[in-house]
Amino acid sequence: MVRIRGLHKSFDGHVVLERVSLDLQPGELLSVIGPSGCGKSTLLRCLNLLEVPDGGHIRIAGHAIDRSGVRWSRQDERLAHRLRAHVGMVFQGFNLFAHRTVLENVILAPMVARRTPRREAADAAMALLDKVGLAAVAHRYPATLSGGQQQRAAIARALAMAPSVMLYDEPTSALDPELAEEVLGVMRQLDEEGMTQIVVTHEMRFARAASDRIVFMDGGRIVEDAPPDQLFTAPADPRTRQFLRNVL
Ligand code: ADP
Ligand code: MG
Repeated sequence: MVRIRGLHKSFDGHVVLERVSLDLQPGELLSVIGPSGCGKSTLLRCLNLLEVPDGGHIRIAGHAIDRSGVRWSRQDERLAHRLRAHVGMVFQGFNLFAHRTVLENVILAPMVARRTPRREAADAAMALLDKVGLAAVAHRYPATLSGGQQQRAAIARALAMAPSVMLYDEPTSALDPELAEEVLGVMRQLDEEGMTQIVVTHEMRFARAASDRIVFMDGGRIVEDAPPDQLFTAPADPRTRQFLRNVL
């Protein structure tokens, strides 16, 4: 579902991602962990071209989002649009449109990008809101919801485009544990339904219990890529051991 080969990204000569390669099978839930500044967000942002990689290859759901041998170009907006339809992204800060109801937040992208008629988009959106437990607040504005509800609305909004992959960048960092649990529960449910998901997270308990695999990054590289039990009980790399000692 996702194939990354030799991904490279620098900011002002400072290397942030160095030869990152990663594969995701359909239905896998991958957690990405690692110290602050190691390149986790940049990796996710490259996967939907919020950042333009300097080099390497990415395929998502069979679509190449680079053009082999051709330099990545910010000009290629059509490519970025096509790609973003396949990749749902959820951020730490919810990023809902404040002046639109929850329902309007969810129907906007299908109506604008897919020209889905409002009625049809609304029916699909209500089904998604029901799935994430928000049917009762569909007509409220984001500010009137808890953080956990807002984040679940953000997930429903991303799902409305029927993405092949869902990406989450620290989706629960701004939430109290109880509200974080609601959001993690939605991700578990999507996993059971076969969604392919990548989550950057500090929730080590969730990463261990829910992930198929965990990637540990440090200094712009993937240091270790292992099933959760192996990574937590027998990390192969001393940097992984050090990191886990500090966070567990
Ligand atoms: P993480 O998510 O693991 O904390 P990031 O991917 O956000 O790490 O950042 C990795 C490094 O890249 C950091 O040193 C950060 O300061 C730098 N960085 C990220 N985005 C930019 C940007 N747009 N411009 C310049 N430097 C950036
Ligand atoms: Mg980050």
